[in-house]
Amino acid sequence: MKKPLFISPKVKRAVDYLTDDKNYNHSFLKTMFSGLLEENRARLESMTTEDLFRAFEDGIDYILEKPAEYIHWEMRFCSECGVPMKEGYVLGDGENYCGDGCVGKHYSDSELDTILAGYDHTSDRDLAYVESMSEDEFNEAVQSNSDSYFTDFEWL
Ligand SMILES: [Zn+2]
Repeated sequence: MKKPLFISPKVKRAVDYLTDDKNYNHSFLKTMFSGLLEENRARLESMTTEDLFRAFEDGIDYILEKPAEYIHWEMRFCSECGVPMKEGYVLGDGENYCGDGCVGKHYSDSELDTILAGYDHTSDRDLAYVESMSEDEFNEAVQSNSDSYFTDFEWL
């Protein structure tokens, strides 16, 4: 298992995320299950059939009951509202937000800019520095910061 990320108490069971949209459901479940497959792929040759069933049962339990703990790298859940994210903000090592509404409940625009540019949003000096950047400087700082970013997730 990968290191568990911060889990919002609002994250539900996987079945609670299913919708009337067949394509959405398909893509959501396929992305989650691909994490389960990938996790076991490396060990397949040394596994007995029983090992394999046990691993899949455990994985399926996680996906159904605690989906956010069984995380595929392309599957994150919003730390604020709990929805599975097709796009959104990844901030540091455990905060994910599905959009401006949810991230805005935790950070002001200038704090968010400072985080995305790779500086310390709790430092007045850093806030002022990022604020003073030209648009090019800011965009370059954002692009070279791999800790926090806005991204589209690639659901299968
Ligand atoms: Zn959200």
